[in-house]
Amino acid sequence: MGEGARLVGLGRHRSLVLDRAVAAGRPADLDVVIAHELGHRRHHHAVAGLLRGVAAVALVLVALRAVLAWLGVDPAAPASLPALWLGVALAAVPTRLALSAAARHEERGADRFAASLVPGGSRQVADHLRRHLLSTGADLRPGRWDRLVGSHPAPSSRLDALGPAIVARPVAPAPERAR
Ligand SMILES: [Zn+2]
Repeated sequence: MGEGARLVGLGRHRSLVLDRAVAAGRPADLDVVIAHELGHRRHHHAVAGLLRGVAAVALVLVALRAVLAWLGVDPAAPASLPALWLGVALAAVPTRLALSAAARHEERGADRFAASLVPGGSRQVADHLRRHLLSTGADLRPGRWDRLVGSHPAPSSRLDALGPAIVARPVAPAPERAR
């Protein structure tokens, strides 16, 4: 679950794509969204994510080749396909978990950057996040697996990271949605 915006592109020219609700929403929320995306830009998260992905694929291939060689499996032989698929599947799980953990770390960094930029600080960021998450029907406390593979921190831990005083405030009920 994102923040209602996405920065796309690499290099000097980027585009900020906003959810319609965010674009038409409160200026204070728009400030948080833009500040959060600027945090991603400032810390070069797009490039870092790309490099991590490439490194992860290379690492998996090298590790798989080494393990197959150690087991005496010929990767070119058709009979080795089941072993190859099993190896890829086994390597994909920890790789995905590590990549997701790094992405969540970056999201918290972008939140901290946004809090340092907007006039209301972490309270303004948390208020925006809470409103956005409730309006989109996000699961505030997802299950363990969803938390482990999510590219964004669980909403509850994300709000926790912004300050305990804010999290302690009661959460307003989600507005009725038109069907
Ligand atoms: Zn983000």
